[in-house]
Amino acid sequence: MKTFDTLLKAQHISTLQKGRPFVEKDTCIGISGKEIAYVGPHTADLSAKTVTDYGEAWIIPGLINAHTHLPMTLFRGFSDDEPLQDWLTKHIFPAEARLVNPEFCRIGTEIAALEAMLSGTTCFADMYYFEPDIADVMDKSGMRAFLGESVIDFPTPDNKKKDGSDYRLLEELIERTRGHSRLAAMIAPHAPYTCSDETLRRAADFARAKNILLSVHVSETAFEVAESRKNFGGKTPVERLLGLGVLDTPALFAHCVHVTDSDIEIMAQKPVAAIYNPESNMKLGSGAAPVRKMLDAGVCVALGTDGCASNNDLNMIREMDTGAKLQKLSLADNSAITAQELIELATVGGAKALQISERVGQLKVGLSADLVAIDLRRPHLQPVHEVASLIYSLQGNEVKDVFVEGRKVVENGRSLTIDQEGLMDRLSFYRSKAGF
Ligand SMILES: [Zn+2]
Repeated sequence: MKTFDTLLKAQHISTLQKGRPFVEKDTCIGISGKEIAYVGPHTADLSAKTVTDYGEAWIIPGLINAHTHLPMTLFRGFSDDEPLQDWLTKHIFPAEARLVNPEFCRIGTEIAALEAMLSGTTCFADMYYFEPDIADVMDKSGMRAFLGESVIDFPTPDNKKKDGSDYRLLEELIERTRGHSRLAAMIAPHAPYTCSDETLRRAADFARAKNILLSVHVSETAFEVAESRKNFGGKTPVERLLGLGVLDTPALFAHCVHVTDSDIEIMAQKPVAAIYNPESNMKLGSGAAPVRKMLDAGVCVALGTDGCASNNDLNMIREMDTGAKLQKLSLADNSAITAQELIELATVGGAKALQISERVGQLKVGLSADLVAIDLRRPHLQPVHEVASLIYSLQGNEVKDVFVEGRKVVENGRSLTIDQEGLMDRLSFYRSKAGF
């Protein structure tokens, strides 16, 4: 008799074994402690303290949002529909200077965590300010998070006097997350166009010295690449970062919409991942990242939503749908990318980008039990001919249960770690107090 803490049964389980998405029918998952202890047929010699039979459901690995700005949920719907440079420099940066403080970051992160867990996300890679505060909220949420403390050339809400507060917060963050199984620190230079050579080189040196990931926006717009060529001796942002040693440290390159063929060749040889943010790139009119080319060249590609000011949600299920369709549209080819490939970007791709594929990203014995059960008994999902194709019809609200490290954080579509009603009340109170 094999005994587990939890045994989950479902009609479809995407194990993503053998390095590719792989769906098993009528199988079950045994969880012991924080880990997956069994994946296979349901036989009479299996037992558990808790047994859940989801019936007509689909169990997938927890979704990994590899690029976002968590507290920016509070800027959802703020100055939409402006040209990108105006939106950033005339609206977002000044609003951040006026409003962003630890309390803003805490409540914005809690909204983000709740929204994302309810639509199947179990892990974030964040870039923002006051990351030790964000770490506290993510810890309580039960989710997994890589916390990227921003460094940038101009004064920021947590480094107003440019007196080194950013690196002090980084040191605090590294201490706060040391030995934590779900939280990790990152350093996040904002972008090549907002950071000097010295700022970028120092960030890369710091990442290597502390053995942490680096996260940076790269080649998001055609304007950014043209400015880089003009100001840095004809170099693209990727070529400039290469010269500064940034590509010699494991890094997340968010966007990569306007990377050249030569940039892609360089990235394929280095420990960096491209993070595809289709909805943000569409909404800001930035373009479509060459995901097909990057995948074919061997670049690690993961999926992200970007922040709520440019998306305007943190729904990774819908991001998979949009991500596939944007590739098909931009290449005028329905076979340019498959639904299964998008599932891979959102799970094992994210795990590889974050250098945690030995722990998460697949439903495999020995890995952490980070998984999502999706109810398929809904009219817009029926009938199910091909399981992966569900990403084209799912909305995200079909997520029934979510587990992180074997702990249930969502049950029947309700968070067990964040009190939704209380949070909405606190948000109303906060907004009236902060005056926005
Ligand atoms: Zn971003």
